[in-house]
Amino acid sequence: MSAPFSLRTDLFIDGQFVPSASGKRFASINPATGETLAEVAEAGREDLDRAVVAARRAFESGPWAAMKPRQRGKILSRAADLLVARSDDFGRVETADNGKPIFEAAKIDMPAAAECLSYFGEHADKIYGDTHAGRPDAMLLTLREPVGVVGAITPWNFPLLQAMWKIAPALAMGNAVVLKPASVTPLTALLFAELLAEAGLPPGAFNVVPGPGALVGQAMAEHPGIDKISFTGETETGKAILRAAAGTVKRVSMELGGKSPNVVFADADLDAAAKGAINAIFYGKGELCSAGSRLLVEASAHDALMERVVDRAKKMVPGDPMNPKTRLGALVSEKQRDTVSRYVESGKKEGAKLVAGGSRASVDGKGAFFEATVFDAVTPAMTIAREEIFGPVLATLTFADEPEAIAVGNATIYGLAAAVWTRDIKKALRTARALKAGTVWINTYNLYDPGLPFGGYKQSGFGRERGHYALEEYTQVKSVWVDLS
Ligand code: NAD
Repeated sequence: MSAPFSLRTDLFIDGQFVPSASGKRFASINPATGETLAEVAEAGREDLDRAVVAARRAFESGPWAAMKPRQRGKILSRAADLLVARSDDFGRVETADNGKPIFEAAKIDMPAAAECLSYFGEHADKIYGDTHAGRPDAMLLTLREPVGVVGAITPWNFPLLQAMWKIAPALAMGNAVVLKPASVTPLTALLFAELLAEAGLPPGAFNVVPGPGALVGQAMAEHPGIDKISFTGETETGKAILRAAAGTVKRVSMELGGKSPNVVFADADLDAAAKGAINAIFYGKGELCSAGSRLLVEASAHDALMERVVDRAKKMVPGDPMNPKTRLGALVSEKQRDTVSRYVESGKKEGAKLVAGGSRASVDGKGAFFEATVFDAVTPAMTIAREEIFGPVLATLTFADEPEAIAVGNATIYGLAAAVWTRDIKKALRTARALKAGTVWINTYNLYDPGLPFGGYKQSGFGRERGHYALEEYTQVKSVWVDLS
């Protein structure tokens, strides 16, 4: 990979890039080529302790603590401008580390991350307490205050963007952040630390400690110096973090997995629905928490829709992620490709009908690629209808009517997202209301805005990212009673 600037591969603590105390490093691999991109410093407990001390100091005293909220906002806005200017460079690093198409990384993820920064930068001084007219003998006030040191633990699928949903509101509200990015994709977080410093963020306000989840992530969840954990990742990891955080009664917010239903009624615009179904499952190689991994189609439209979906899926050929025309990149790792392969085998074994893809692929003889895969004749009991695959595998189920669509749509432990396709506005809204999911799209899929909250129902988690709800996640309310008697 050619980049016009150096990768950063050390930990970022208290405004400095530093090696880990142990001197250990781990390889970050380009999944499209199998080549090692960088040897990254591996944080351990001692490094985490140093990062927490630096964050605590920044939060309690020093320039970050003393800064006017508007000034904090300006730093975030400056960082947003820098990120826009460097979105191609950051995008190339993200693509090399994650395998996602450069089109997505540079043209969608990085601009969206910058937009998130400027959105929350604008909110830095727009956080309000209130007064309560409860008593003549007192003035009753509330103050909204930062939580303190926020530990952010993030996944590998949208490495910088997912982190930004946490970093931007947390910093805007005056917290200090310790970020542990996923071990397979640590590089853009480290570059971003440098960018934030350049934008004027004082030392200690943002720290990055890449390292193994079971060690550094777990230690963060247990750490008495961390006031809140904001986690995005698998539901099972979320459960482990909840248990670990219980010891210090830490605040937690959880963005977890999904198995989102994409419901197509027979009266929908089937061309648009087919295009939407493809975007819903193959954007981000299907390594998307909100992926529309269950396509629910009304029986009378089944053949017409599936013809369109299969035709489009067959055209989604895996390609070199660095090619701007590529729309299906490499899976994040060989390990993830093994997981996806296992699910495809289970689909075949349990009797689903494979109608597109289904095999490993390579580009120039290399890489963790997988074909765009579509199963038809899936039933709700099958493993591929129940479990999150996190890869380019679509499970198609058929329903007879609206009540059945809703029942099948809700027959999951998850509740992250859903979509409804129909020309009937009443049916669209009834279904949107009945589906138990944190986001429901109508006649579209996978659209996001920094002002619209995102998060899960059921085992997809709790808490909301983005919008003013996110500001609440990174603040706490203090009541003040002023005696006037
Ligand atoms: P993961 O749970 O394996 O890892 C996420 C992060 O947790 C990583 O940084 C990892 O190192 C860390 N971790 C692992 N074990 C830990 C432990 N015991 N204690 C503390 N931290 C630990 O998830 P992943 O494979 O990186 O990402 C894919 C998952 O993330 C999918 O389930 C996907 O649905 C979910 N996801 C959800 C959202 C959302 O907004 N709801 C967004 C993106 C991804």
